[in-house]
Amino acid sequence: MNSKSKNAKLVAALLRWFAAHARDLPWRRTRDPYAIWVSEIMLQQTQVKTVIPFWNRWLQTLPSIAATANASPDQLHKLWEGLGYYTRVRNLQKAAQVVMAKHGGKFPENFTDILALPGIGRYTAGAISSIAFNQPTPILDGNVIRVLTRLFGISENPKAKTTNAQLWQLAEDLVKDANSSRWGERPREPKFERQRRTAAREDARPTNCSFLNQSLMELGALVCTPRNTQCPICPVKNLCVAFAENRVDELPNLGKRETATARHFMAFVVERDGKFLIRQRPAGAVNAHLWEFPNAETTGAKADAKKIFKAIFGSAPPAVHPLVTVKHSITRYRITLEAFLVRLGGTSYTSPHSKKQSGTRGAHPSESISTTGIWKTPAQMSLLAFTAAHKKLASAAAKSILSGG
Ligand code: SF4
Repeated sequence: MNSKSKNAKLVAALLRWFAAHARDLPWRRTRDPYAIWVSEIMLQQTQVKTVIPFWNRWLQTLPSIAATANASPDQLHKLWEGLGYYTRVRNLQKAAQVVMAKHGGKFPENFTDILALPGIGRYTAGAISSIAFNQPTPILDGNVIRVLTRLFGISENPKAKTTNAQLWQLAEDLVKDANSSRWGERPREPKFERQRRTAAREDARPTNCSFLNQSLMELGALVCTPRNTQCPICPVKNLCVAFAENRVDELPNLGKRETATARHFMAFVVERDGKFLIRQRPAGAVNAHLWEFPNAETTGAKADAKKIFKAIFGSAPPAVHPLVTVKHSITRYRITLEAFLVRLGGTSYTSPHSKKQSGTRGAHPSESISTTGIWKTPAQMSLLAFTAAHKKLASAAAKSILSGG
């Protein structure tokens, strides 16, 4: 079969399958490029089910580009709290400000203008312009890479430059094919799209580019998954090289995974008169602008909590009590965060600082953080955005007050 006829068959099968099987997701019930853009940014590195409540809350709180452009950093970070990768939310606001200043508050339709916005790369620009404006712009993310490498039996590493270019070309060929193929064949739209149009009193209009791109992502998310791949129910199995050659589990060839590195941190939940000492991470640091409890990276699990406390605060604590241990992963790091409760009572303290420690074995400041801590009650802390791990500490801190423990 030549590639033109394979592509035409793929496009037809994928569009039919999408119309019948696409998930009814809230951002699929809108054509508003702003709402679609927010969903695409949230979905980077984050699963659909996690994103849904965040997206709903965001759109309710900041329903327009102008609202996002003018929101306070605290409000933005609080709305994003728990999604991680906070550079995304800061870029979202920068881009909203550019849209206000350069495009009169109207989200641009032109691919090049979209691509020029902060935080928007080729994938996101392609997703927005195809989904919101039905333009034949390709998309290539992890899901699409998996589907395409398997469909076309590509065994080279998709991160290699030429292979990556080849995959972009395949994605482009498919969406262009969808653009030029007959629109109007039934079933041509999912039920939720019909309901959306009826509610919005919109006539049907071409959607092939939008639905073709979304079908590739959807197939990768639901059927052509990394493990337990559902080939027997796949709508394009008859066209799939990996399926025919029994190579599904070999593709994509992502090369050797980097081994995870273990890192240990120690945090201190310091309480005085029902308030806790917290600090804000500075601009430029990882998780900038978010709040956290004073902490330091240690050289291992056996570090001495009292020594680390002294390294951070400059004076010894009255006593330290194990509070909670949080384990989580960020990129290739497996992080263990051990938290201790320190009740100061009438004891005076020194604000957290980052001066280089000398003679303190086992501790080194996590980064050059030089913020002054502030004291907050649990209710006040609940209004601030914490990193996911430190949010668990904040909740343990609140419980420690209730239990008096
Ligand atoms: Fe993926 Fe299997 Fe479908 Fe091929 S047949 S595209 S490997 S789910």
